Amino acid sequence: MATIVESGARRGRSADRAGLLDMLGRALGYCRRNPSLVVGLVMFMLLLLSSTIGSRFVNLLDARPISVKPLQPPSWTLPFGSDKQGRDLLAVMVAGTPLTLRIGLIAGFIGVIFGSFIAFVSAYYGGWLDALLRGVVDVGLTIPGLMVLIVIAMMVPSGLSVEQMALVVASLAWLYPARTIRAQVLTLRERSYIQVSRLSGMPGRMIILREILPNLLPYLAASLVGSISAAVLASIGLEVLGLGPMDAPTIGMTLFWINYNAAVINGWWWWWLPPIVVIGLLFISLFQISVGLDEIANPRLRKSVAAGKLAQVTRKQGGGHVNPKASTSDVLRLENLTVYYDTPRGPVHAVEEITFSLRAQERFGLVGESGSGKSSMALTIMRLIKAPARIVAGDIWLENVNLLDLPEAKMKELRLAQIALVAQGSMNSLNPVMRIRDQIAVGLADHGMKLTPNELEERVTSLLAKVGLAPQVANMFPHELSGGMKQRVVIAIAISLSPKVIIADEPTSALDVVVQRQIMETFKNVQTEIGASVILVGHDMGLMAQFAQRLGVMYAGRLMEVAPVRELFRQPRHPYTQLLISSLPSVETKGQFTGIPGLPPSLLDVPTGCVFHPRCPLAADRCRTEVPKLRELQPDLVVACHFAT
Ligand code: SF4
Repeated sequence: MATIVESGARRGRSADRAGLLDMLGRALGYCRRNPSLVVGLVMFMLLLLSSTIGSRFVNLLDARPISVKPLQPPSWTLPFGSDKQGRDLLAVMVAGTPLTLRIGLIAGFIGVIFGSFIAFVSAYYGGWLDALLRGVVDVGLTIPGLMVLIVIAMMVPSGLSVEQMALVVASLAWLYPARTIRAQVLTLRERSYIQVSRLSGMPGRMIILREILPNLLPYLAASLVGSISAAVLASIGLEVLGLGPMDAPTIGMTLFWINYNAAVINGWWWWWLPPIVVIGLLFISLFQISVGLDEIANPRLRKSVAAGKLAQVTRKQGGGHVNPKASTSDVLRLENLTVYYDTPRGPVHAVEEITFSLRAQERFGLVGESGSGKSSMALTIMRLIKAPARIVAGDIWLENVNLLDLPEAKMKELRLAQIALVAQGSMNSLNPVMRIRDQIAVGLADHGMKLTPNELEERVTSLLAKVGLAPQVANMFPHELSGGMKQRVVIAIAISLSPKVIIADEPTSALDVVVQRQIMETFKNVQTEIGASVILVGHDMGLMAQFAQRLGVMYAGRLMEVAPVRELFRQPRHPYTQLLISSLPSVETKGQFTGIPGLPPSLLDVPTGCVFHPRCPLAADRCRTEVPKLRELQPDLVVACHFAT
């Protein structure tokens, strides 16, 4: 019995330890994910902690205010030196910092709480109340704040105490939060889930508390940090003018005495340096906290250092300068291309060992469900994929040039001139304030084409004609064009330098079926005219059947099958392709349509063996352990399935 109890206790202890380690691991993981917030909070807490220690120094200051020799430079006994009144400057700093923080915190909290209240009432209830409150806030913000604070502070003839100073600053600190939080509430109020709550009869008060407030919390926290910073700054401003608490060693009052005694001119650097450093540390900590809170409110800002940067190529450099497996008809060849996205939960295997070739003047379709890695691959070919993506392995040969070995400057020259992209949602990529002519001209000029106005006009007119647009379109802005016309303009830009390869990533996804067909017809015509090869990325099998000559089928970042389009539709070899085609509506098929059972796997944790085995009706034991390689079943037809024949 005793042994059972002992072993139970041991298990309990080890479970506690495991729980503690797990918590520690998660805390460390969080620190790694949001270092700004952690660094800022640690710095701020250290400054706050000085208030506890500081109280002892205050006594020290009070007890012996002139206990050291005045104007002593730093030494072992006086690490910060002394000021003209003979005060130990280390004691002044340790006692003064928490007082300045107290002013900032009181004024910041009052500002955000009162400002939020005004913002909620104004934005949520609208009407005359909103107009009135907005008017008061707008007028308040137009008046120079520091001037108003000076007037208020001067109304207290006996001088302000620390708390009074905080209240004076708070009297204006609510204005800015009131305006910015109102804007946030207005945006949230129009969100669909709020509309649904309203339609379902939820009272306004409950909508604010349950739906709006939780979504606003990170923003409110960021506003609070901003308010504290502004309050500290305002209080220092007033104190430097001599309007602060004369008997308190706040940072602002220390600066006042420095100024009063002309410490800078007299070269007493040890007097003015510490308050400057403390102010610097305080604002750095508040800034870091604010950045960290912004990242919580808007997760897209995370990894902001990496975001926007092009993905790193971490694969080993290619072996030589000549494409070793090129066939004379190949324009583009991908060889074992592998791309991962680094996430806090591990790498996402977005593109895994993709190999295929694009022939001269060929139209190659790439299909697959959402998240199968098609767009990642398209962007990788353009070398436009952004961090946290990482090109882990493989080669991309554009004829005899390995794109992954090129410096970015060279790649810039190649884009548009030799390889162009019609990106997903590219209609929105047109600049709304530039005429179409100028948007076409930018690409030409960037590639060193110096055209006279007449030559440019001719060139633009001819490009527009190629995509079926009238010359007048050159003078228009994007908002004057329909969706189909904008898409034609994007195609005109893509072909403006007659590239060898065009990658079109779902170019017609936002258009209706009739316009889709017209655009694809136009695209086919211009592709034939300029002799380019095209990779069309999409998931519309019908569109692919009409446009492409060969099809590649992707699943979970892998290529499952590549075959000529007719052959692929006539006799799909891979079980995934078979299911994909059988789920298409057809005039011959009657009865209920069924989709592919199950869901695509998480690319963070891909299944072992064949990635399709959890959904494959033909899966056998071998499929769970052995990865099927792409095998050539007949010329021009490759399949990644153990049993395909
Ligand atoms: Fe299905 Fe096995 Fe073929 Fe994968 S290898 S597609 S699981 S039969």
